[in-house]
Amino acid sequence: MSADTLHDQETHHFQAEISQLLDIVINSLYTHREVFIRELVSNAADASEKFRHEALTNKELGEGDAALEIRIDVDKEAGTFTITDSGIGMSRDELSENLGTIAHSGTKAFLQKIKEAANQDVSLIGQFGVGFYSAFMVAKKVTVETRSFHADSQGWVWESEGTGQYTISQKDDLARGTRIHIELKDDATEYAEDSRIKDAIRRYSNFVPIPISVNGEKVNTVQAIWTRNRSDITEEEYTEFYKFVANAWDEPMFRLHFNADAPLAIRALLYVPKENPEHLGLGKMQPGVDLYCRKVMIEKHPENLLPEWMRFVRGVIDSDDLPLNISRETLQDSALIRKLSKVITGRFIKHLAEQAKNNEEEFSKFYDTFGNFIKEGATQDFAHRDDLANLLRFESSALEAGKKTSLLDYVGRMKAEQKDIYFMNGPSRETIEAGPYVEAFREREIEVLYTFDQIDDYVFMQLGEYQEKKLVSADRGDIELSDIDAKEGEELSSEDSEALCGWLKETLGDRVGSVRVSKRLVSNPAIAVTGGMMSSAMQRLMMSVGKDETFDGKTMTLEINPRHSLIHRLNALRNDNKDFANELSEQLYDNALLAAGLFVDPRAMVDRLNKLLTKAAGG
Ligand code: ADP
Ligand code: MG
Repeated sequence: MSADTLHDQETHHFQAEISQLLDIVINSLYTHREVFIRELVSNAADASEKFRHEALTNKELGEGDAALEIRIDVDKEAGTFTITDSGIGMSRDELSENLGTIAHSGTKAFLQKIKEAANQDVSLIGQFGVGFYSAFMVAKKVTVETRSFHADSQGWVWESEGTGQYTISQKDDLARGTRIHIELKDDATEYAEDSRIKDAIRRYSNFVPIPISVNGEKVNTVQAIWTRNRSDITEEEYTEFYKFVANAWDEPMFRLHFNADAPLAIRALLYVPKENPEHLGLGKMQPGVDLYCRKVMIEKHPENLLPEWMRFVRGVIDSDDLPLNISRETLQDSALIRKLSKVITGRFIKHLAEQAKNNEEEFSKFYDTFGNFIKEGATQDFAHRDDLANLLRFESSALEAGKKTSLLDYVGRMKAEQKDIYFMNGPSRETIEAGPYVEAFREREIEVLYTFDQIDDYVFMQLGEYQEKKLVSADRGDIELSDIDAKEGEELSSEDSEALCGWLKETLGDRVGSVRVSKRLVSNPAIAVTGGMMSSAMQRLMMSVGKDETFDGKTMTLEINPRHSLIHRLNALRNDNKDFANELSEQLYDNALLAAGLFVDPRAMVDRLNKLLTKAAGG
């Protein structure tokens, strides 16, 4: 660059997180390096597609898309790689915002992922929205020249060696778009060979919908695979296209490719990835489906195209019925988009339902990985709630461990006189089955669904019912199970029982709402049941998210088992040995809370237990 065309050079420092990221990128393994080609090509393609769309909506531009192309020029002698696009370019503010000043959420997520990974796999970089920096895997120095498509915009040059700082200066006479020029590291000169570049583009960027040339020779076959017939597309092409649209390196779990003519003309190619990044603790996924109209991209990954719970889906939706010049702003509240969304979501759920029916194994693999999104949808996507509820799966007392049932199948197994659907939350099947809540159900062979996740209880609370049958937590106080035959021991007389209940309420005070005789207990002396709509798992959840930090015992009812020998003894002791009876009732209460999974002050309890043990040992 000659000095006379550059003005006002300013030096800036990368934000700390970006510097850290660059450190990792610069020192990455050789084997991952070629990813930079894909990232820079994909940025050039994004910028070109944005321009193509702008040209359609903004008549003043009027340059059409004939001129759109991506050019790569490599020079072996000079050891350089240059990629040029005629896309939307960047203004000065955009330049410093996008490249260096503002570390967005992806930066942190990427750093975290890399720290956890055993082999510093930088190739995932594009998925975190920081793909540009991959250039520093191979670069001694990167120069970005860019001019925005806006009328009267000026040209800018961004330059950096990747070590801490970058410069920005103004430059005259730049064409619209962006040129990225890389001075290759001495050990990266292979990327100055055109055969090497062509090879990488054919492998990773073959589906880029803008012509790409390398040293003047066109390399990609521009095509919209989703518009072709399913039978003409090979498995390989499908997988390759997935890698392209999802910016992924793995293979998809499955895909859904369909056309519809009514109520809208739609061609969609959707993929479900193999992994769920939200499971890996990488934060909330961003939507990943692109919107096209007749092969022209309207927007990459629009926010409100599909319901939020579908954010794990990747792919393309193309509709002839969208006006080509629809602007991004009108996308937000367009009735047409809502209709489109409804059709696609319906088809996707239908596909899952068919899979659940015809290929249980595939479906359960999907459910294990992405089930949380289905649960989220069942609580939030009102339009598809019933269909999503059909896809929910739970372990159950009627099935062996590890097997899951649908609510529909549960309903099919319900007893003639059974009105409600029962579920019980706990950390594991063993804990639930050993706990006091399900024994009465077991006695009478009433099926109970097991929910291992507190979210499940939230889902059930939101759904309220399924096929007009109430979803009821087994620890609810108002469950009416008719009397069970007394199994062991004699039942305390009703006068004694009532007196004992009254005494317990007095002794425990405000820590319990009421005390009453249980109709369902078999082998346990007492349980805590909830009064309101909330299961105890829901109470725990509310406590853990801080909505309801203090546990309010008044919402609990303590139920006692009049057949249990401890209850008989307690009844006798409350007259003979009041202090001892007090200690026992306190412990009975704590035990009931513990069995409900609720917090108990361990120190006070240990002190008390030691006293009781001393007594039991004859002390
Ligand atoms: P992502 O592409 O996922 O947003 P990148 O790190 O690859 O993340 O790019 C960051 C941003 O820089 C892009 O979102 C875009 O705004 C801008 N950018 C990068 N390359 C170009 C280009 N060739 N033309 C215009 N803008 C670009
Ligand atoms: Mg990118």
